[in-house]
Amino acid sequence: MKNISILGSTGSIGVQTLEVVRATSDFRVLGLSTNGSIELLEEQIREFKPLKVAVMDEKKANMLIDKIKDLDVEVLTGLDGLVKIATMEKVDTVVMSVVGNIGIKPTYEAIRAKKEIALATKEVLVSGGSLIINEAKKQGVKIYPIDSEHSAIFQSLQGNDMNKIEKIILTASGGPFRGKTAEQLKDVTPEMALKHPNWSMGAKITIDSSTMMNKGLEVIEAKWLFDVDVNKIQVLVHPQSIVHSAVEYEDGAVMAQLGIPDMKVPISYALTYPKREKNLFEKLNLAKVGTLTFEEPDLKTFRCLALAYKAIEVGGSMPAVLNAANEIAVEKFLNKEIKYLDIPTIIETTMTAYTVKYNFTIEELLETDEWGRKYAQNIEL
Ligand code: MG
Repeated sequence: MKNISILGSTGSIGVQTLEVVRATSDFRVLGLSTNGSIELLEEQIREFKPLKVAVMDEKKANMLIDKIKDLDVEVLTGLDGLVKIATMEKVDTVVMSVVGNIGIKPTYEAIRAKKEIALATKEVLVSGGSLIINEAKKQGVKIYPIDSEHSAIFQSLQGNDMNKIEKIILTASGGPFRGKTAEQLKDVTPEMALKHPNWSMGAKITIDSSTMMNKGLEVIEAKWLFDVDVNKIQVLVHPQSIVHSAVEYEDGAVMAQLGIPDMKVPISYALTYPKREKNLFEKLNLAKVGTLTFEEPDLKTFRCLALAYKAIEVGGSMPAVLNAANEIAVEKFLNKEIKYLDIPTIIETTMTAYTVKYNFTIEELLETDEWGRKYAQNIEL
């Protein structure tokens, strides 16, 4: 029996994690959290009976307290609440699936409290890479990837020698605008960008997929998770999303993990590693898929991917600024305040204005994040 907390339990990954929990009897849920979806959280509380929950929004936290008066559950609020859920006594594994940078502090504190991390929130490693990884090493804490590509890489590394990696092949679906030119993307609306061909995900990550920033963030995430040089990470567009990623070794052998696009598989592996748990989820039928295709990414049209490579090459705190500016740009695009192609412009302008730091504490990192957000927010296009 493994005791888990899920941060972001009402989001797409959180809900699917609870499906995985429901399908076995191996887990006990001790903590849950939501940004503001208290109706769904209430249902989850009644079904999984956690000891504590956190609601970021204080007003909504008070509304929830009112709704669950009949239950003996502690309701916490704000970032402190998230940290408490992430560091609860008796919790073995923290599933980190909140949206964006809000996950950095709780992940850091969970590691300090020696909790294993099942990580879906890639922004945590994009922004906090060196800090998070160094702390995990210091505490002897393992970080298991939930991101499907990173889970595929992790699975392709099992039983192999890390020193013999030639390259990591990070696959990308290419999103809904694969093959389009910048000219054709001028008038893209949020509704158009929110239609992902293969994966059903939250709004932020779906927009990131359409701009290929998601892949850029994943390159940075892979660098930190697997301790490989960024020039050994190759992005390969694979529209069918069946090969979830691969590792090429020095002898030319390529190991890949394949499956239907279903996040429950990487979630399950992150929670049961090194065991594999039998399940009734839909299985891959390669004959039915028929054809798998691959192509190079178009870095000229999808500037966000090129900007992510640039940020990690500069290193230090630059990826945190990339990530902060991207979060603001995506938010503005979803609110129809800017146009689709303004997203990379805002990120690039913010990065250009920033003077990179190479040594920083978690507090300084959060200040950098705040700086990036403010700067991106106030850019006049
Ligand atoms: Mg992914």
